[in-house]
Amino acid sequence: MKKYLVIGNPIDHSLSPLLHNFWIKENNIKAIYKRKKIDKENLEDIILQIKKNQIQGVNVTVPHKKNIIPFIDQLSPEAEATQSVNTIYLNENKVIGHNTDIAGFELSLKKTKYYAYDKKIFILGAGGVVPSIIFSLKKMNASSIIISNRTKHKALELQKLFKNLEIIDWGKIPEFDIIINATSIGLRKNDRIDLDFSKVGSNKLFYDVIYNPGETNFLKEGKKLGNQVENGKLMFVYQAYEAFRLWHKVKPNITKETLELIEND
Ligand code: NDP
Repeated sequence: MKKYLVIGNPIDHSLSPLLHNFWIKENNIKAIYKRKKIDKENLEDIILQIKKNQIQGVNVTVPHKKNIIPFIDQLSPEAEATQSVNTIYLNENKVIGHNTDIAGFELSLKKTKYYAYDKKIFILGAGGVVPSIIFSLKKMNASSIIISNRTKHKALELQKLFKNLEIIDWGKIPEFDIIINATSIGLRKNDRIDLDFSKVGSNKLFYDVIYNPGETNFLKEGKKLGNQVENGKLMFVYQAYEAFRLWHKVKPNITKETLELIEND
């Protein structure tokens, strides 16, 4: 029986086991996928277990996507560029660290039919998920990327990883085609971003990386102003899809039933 894990801290909220075990069963694969709460001190031990083939694959979530890097033998170009690893596996005795959040974001945006090509993007936040979103947007040839974060120096840090990012003060809203909420504001139903969107206009895309709740106040406001809205559900599903494809060499189905699995509003 092959063994897969999602590791992080906290980890109880993770819906990855639900999704992966559903696909494992659907594809008649002899495997089990579990969640495990892991502190920083135990990351090396997990990697040793992968090396010994006791664990065949690991997904990494908050707060370890960067912490795990020193223990990994080889990073994919995507993981290297973003300094963020969310999917690990063994290949020819080497532990490989990859980042499927990038493909997850790209595929989710393609599904909205709101392409990033030549678009002005405004990102709120500068936390762990943002390098993956920037990498993805650059790959899709967005025309410009503007970042605003409450703690400005964290946004400025991103300029070390990526060229041509514009950083603006928290509170300012520039002209944009797509706005992405990549902060954690919205995880609680009553959370509200302290920005005034009333003058942004309509026919833009409001994208929230949060998928639970399915409609944050940010998305509610975007919709009320006449904009297209999208939550992070498809991003989550597609990052899992890419990890599954890598590990099992099978493309899992994404159907209404799959999406309902992770709807717990
Ligand atoms: P981090 O903890 O690394 O970053 C949190 C971000 O939120 C920081 O930019 C922080 O700003 C900002 N923030 C938090 N509270 C406030 C506040 N009160 N006012 C202003 N800014 C605030 O988280 P991640 O980057 O890992 O994740 C961000 C979100 O993305 C989470 O909601 C997570 O659930 C979601 N996510 C979704 C994924 C998907 O597949 N759909 C994948 C990964 C993440 P500051 O620096 O000032 O603290």
